Amino acid sequence: MRIVFLGPPGAGKGTQAALLSERFSTPSIATGDILRRHVAQGTPLGLQVGPIMDRGELVSDGLTIELISDRLAEPDARLGFILDGYPRTVNQAIALEELLAEIDAKLDRVIKFAVRTAQIVERLAGRRVCPACKTVYHFVTHPPIVEGVCDNDGAALLLREDDREEAIVRRLEVYGADTRPLYEFYLSRGLLIEIDAIGTTSEVTARLDAALEQ
Ligand code: ADP
Ligand code: AMP
Repeated sequence: MRIVFLGPPGAGKGTQAALLSERFSTPSIATGDILRRHVAQGTPLGLQVGPIMDRGELVSDGLTIELISDRLAEPDARLGFILDGYPRTVNQAIALEELLAEIDAKLDRVIKFAVRTAQIVERLAGRRVCPACKTVYHFVTHPPIVEGVCDNDGAALLLREDDREEAIVRRLEVYGADTRPLYEFYLSRGLLIEIDAIGTTSEVTARLDAALEQ
């Protein structure tokens, strides 16, 4: 299946993408993760995008389209994928359609994760990530066994720079202006299914499964 997860930052897309990726044996592809890897490695691209990401702004369409085009060309993504965090603009969505058309393929589903702003702020402010294996925790809802330490590899968990309050506010503004128009875009193509993303992770997983079976 070729699936896109849409929804504001903190809606739980990455959490569900990791679970679904395992169940479906399909790669979960997050442009945010690809970009953060560049930042961590200090590549020229990373140096360019790091400050933009920290402020909660979007990286340019040209750059992200190139990244996703390269990633979707890799063998593991040929037959299916879960896209998390791409597309974020109508231009990116059009570019994705064009990329898929080249291999005579189409998206199967676009899942919109619906949450309220209060939940978003709570989830983002409590999010902690492992810098080594990228596992996502929340210090209240998904705490590690030992506080502040990754269960998998013992690395010290980090607060993302863009999960600080100022950047959260900016990311929500950017989401409303640039990404929300994608609801209309995918609705008009008959691909959009909205799920309630409030509730426990397993409740959301059950709703996601039902949406994918539709
Ligand atoms: P996104 O990828 O949409 O930005 P994440 O999957 O990283 O969101 O989730 C944001 C935060 O909320 C993380 O700290 C995660 O552990 C937590 N979280 C995800 N899903 C739920 C849920 N259903 N209930 C409570 N907390 C959740
Ligand atoms: P995420 O991990 O999805 O929350 O993304 C973190 C940050 O990476 C975003 O705030 C943007 O700065 C950048 N980013 C990730 N994906 C995209 C995209 N598709 N288009 C533009 N910027 C992106």
